Amino acid sequence: MFRWLFLDEHSPAEHAAWKLSALRILLGAGFTLLALFALGAALGAFAGGAERVLSVAAFFCALLGLALYCSARHMRAGAALLIVALYGAALAVAVLTDNDELARLGMMFIYGSPLIAQLFFGARPAIALMALNTLPFLSLLLKPPATGVAAIHFSASASHIYAPSLLFLFFNIGLPLALFRVLHVLYVSAQRERQASAALEVSYAQYQEIFQNVGSAIVLTDDYGKILQANQLANAILGRDAACDGEGVLFDWLSLDHSVRLKDVTDGETAEMRMSAYRTRDGKMVAMEHISQTTSEHFIVALRDVSGLHSMHHALQLSLEREDFLSNHDRLTNLPNRDMLRQHLHAILSGSDAGKVTALVSFRLNSIRHANQKFGAHTGDILLRRFADELSRALPKNCFCARLRSIVFSFVVDQARTPREIIELVERIRNKLPKELEIDGATLLVQFSAGIALTRQDEADPDDLIRRSEVALDTARRSSDQSVTLFDEDDALQIRRSVEIEVGIMSGLKQNEFRLLYQPKVGRDGRIAGLEALLRWQSPTLGNVAPVEFIQIAERAGLIRDISNFVLDQACAQIRSWLDRFGTCPPVAINLSASDIARSDLLQLVEDSCRRYRIAAAYLEFEITETGLIANETLAIHHLNALKTRGFGIAIDDFGTGYSSLSKLSHFPARSVKIDRSFVAQIGYNQKSEMIIKAIISLANILSCTTVAEGVENETQERFLKQIGCEYFQGYYYHRPLEALALEQLFPASSMKLA
Ligand code: C2E
Ligand code: MG
Ligand code: MG
Repeated sequence: MFRWLFLDEHSPAEHAAWKLSALRILLGAGFTLLALFALGAALGAFAGGAERVLSVAAFFCALLGLALYCSARHMRAGAALLIVALYGAALAVAVLTDNDELARLGMMFIYGSPLIAQLFFGARPAIALMALNTLPFLSLLLKPPATGVAAIHFSASASHIYAPSLLFLFFNIGLPLALFRVLHVLYVSAQRERQASAALEVSYAQYQEIFQNVGSAIVLTDDYGKILQANQLANAILGRDAACDGEGVLFDWLSLDHSVRLKDVTDGETAEMRMSAYRTRDGKMVAMEHISQTTSEHFIVALRDVSGLHSMHHALQLSLEREDFLSNHDRLTNLPNRDMLRQHLHAILSGSDAGKVTALVSFRLNSIRHANQKFGAHTGDILLRRFADELSRALPKNCFCARLRSIVFSFVVDQARTPREIIELVERIRNKLPKELEIDGATLLVQFSAGIALTRQDEADPDDLIRRSEVALDTARRSSDQSVTLFDEDDALQIRRSVEIEVGIMSGLKQNEFRLLYQPKVGRDGRIAGLEALLRWQSPTLGNVAPVEFIQIAERAGLIRDISNFVLDQACAQIRSWLDRFGTCPPVAINLSASDIARSDLLQLVEDSCRRYRIAAAYLEFEITETGLIANETLAIHHLNALKTRGFGIAIDDFGTGYSSLSKLSHFPARSVKIDRSFVAQIGYNQKSEMIIKAIISLANILSCTTVAEGVENETQERFLKQIGCEYFQGYYYHRPLEALALEQLFPASSMKLA
């Protein structure tokens, strides 16, 4: 019964339970009231003949019964029926009784309706009913209700019991019980609220504890990045003072655009944002490591200070870039290297304009060798760097320039209309380049040769263009004038042969493909006065290569040093052998090239060889051409003087061909002068040559130098030479260059003039 009335307030629909409970109390009270009233009325009705009262009571009983029934499922319908019953009861009392007082009391039922309306329908219907109730109230004040309409007359004794009893039951029991029920609910819910808020406080404290000490920097924001809450770690990372900076927008601290929406970031549309690092106001690099959306449309953003990681990444990036740069650039000059030039040419060749001419121009810094020899490799490097800078400056804007190899720089001229235009441009660049550079207080010459290779129609191979530019460069280098050289097919063949010779010399020296021949020099009496060691190279691939050809290439390739070492050693060994076998031998002349004479270790090398083979200086003579002497004049004179002082013979070879004035002879510490065979060959044909020979011999006599005529091939030549006082002769007329063994056959036969 109590459970039915009061219901379980812990049920899930608790908010409705207390209302239903109040309704049941009211309806139950009303029903009980009416049941009692009906019972009492029934007894009185039969006694007083008012059976109609019974039907009224039955009607209200049915109404309240229906209300009770409805209340189980349709609570508001039950409440509405109750209100109707209240108004009905008031009306019934007013209409059916003839007692004024009773009618007034009956009206009081309706005063309970606003309260019920408020409980079940809200404030508005309640106020409406309050207003409505003023009408019957006013009508009661002004005039008594129209009683007795239905002319039911209860006995006075019965009527004065019913109405007060009804009011008593309704206002003293039903309504208070319903109110108690409501108050109870308020009390219980207030108590629960207190418990809930206490629990909330505890969980908030726990949340704060976790939020602050979670070990990650966490910020709670809205979709626009507005900071709702940030833990200490997050504030520290952002450099944010929560007290001073207030809420703020996270994006401001991360220098991010305000148009960013965190929802997009989580959706993955801008997922790369999570991978990125952002610079904070105090220079840290911070990443939004994790972003998640809460149920309340807020966002939890986990931040991470990636400054260390970022600087590592940055350093790595830089090193990769540097590595990439170095793999494509030359370290000394910072210019692109050969690989990059190839790539560039490849791109240009594949997309070149049909009406334009493209050229690869190469400059070779020839004067670098002199700089290296005189001031050392370091100065040579500086000269290269400076030359690269000067060249880059002299080139037109956006002209691609690379260091092709050690001392060769190449640049691409594209979009010219004619080859002439390119040659003129290269000439302009040449003129812009300085003639000399000041490095560490020394003035270094800037001498270079230039070669141009033009692209051919439909040419696609950059290597071919590079190769042709090198050939042109090589041709330019070999030519005496400093003009720009265009690639030529014949030159290419020659260059290929030089490359083969260059490679062959290196292996030939190791494989013993070189040997010495000895050509005798004879005196006026025909006796052998000396020998000239002449080098021969029998290459398995190239055949017999003439010394004029390979010596020149060896000089250019820097291989002459090895050749001279070989010749000196072989010649000394041969002299030793002859001395051992014959007790004596003629002095042997060794040819030195221009760069040999500039060698700082020349004297040392010669002395070491003489010591090793126990040979006196008198057995050795050195021939150096006039042109070789002029190329390194100061150094050559210095070294030759040193050799002369130690007793070695010095001869000036090919004299008269070096374009220097004959008076130059006085500068050289020569013991003998060899008249070039080109003059000797002209004897009998060319008076001018004969006069030159005469002049050389007179000059040599004045300077106390002996004279040797080279290339004497016939008696006419010999007669003329003897006539004008030449002392020694060399040529096929006497002896061809001979193998040592063949020469030895001559030793006993010809009385030798010994050293
Ligand atoms: P060179 O020092 O003037 O040598 C004389 C050249 O004239 C030799 O040529 C010789 O064979 C050639 N010759 C001698 N008599 C006659 C003649 O009657 N008629 C003609 N037409 N030629 C004659 P080769 O051996 O071919 O040497 C050429 C040049 O190569 C030499 O000229 C010399 O400058 C250089 N050379 C030879 N051997 C060596 C060497 O061991 N070291 C260096 N640095 N240079 C060398
Ligand atoms: Mg010679
Ligand atoms: Mg000669």
